[in-house]
Amino acid sequence: MTAGKVLIVEDNPVNLRLAQFLLEKRGFAVRKAATGAECLAELARELPDIILMDIHLPGEDGLTVTRKIRADARTAPVIIVALTAHAMAGDREKILGAGCDGYIPKPIDPQRLATEVERYLQQGRLKTA
Ligand code: MN
Repeated sequence: MTAGKVLIVEDNPVNLRLAQFLLEKRGFAVRKAATGAECLAELARELPDIILMDIHLPGEDGLTVTRKIRADARTAPVIIVALTAHAMAGDREKILGAGCDGYIPKPIDPQRLATEVERYLQQGRLKTA
């Protein structure tokens, strides 16, 4: 049994590999997407428990993709956590307003990423229980 299914949406290959490594080490099953279009294609195949969504992506940005996920009844229940280097006061409202459940600041903290993901998974389950 895995710790959970995570879809990482991130166009920076270094960040992507780091997040994948840290989450697989903790027992998560990881799938990856480098663009919003790839993210939506992955969701059409299978729904993860949680999405880590980079905000700055080529093409549609992470907030636009998040709004699309929330607008579709099938994908709407998935927990979405933004990955952002711009975790500033004003952006918090924008991120939550787009439908994200929270955000994890970049650069990724290797000591904390998996624990943060676990915390969001627990929160999500509590909310929908
Ligand atoms: Mn990016």
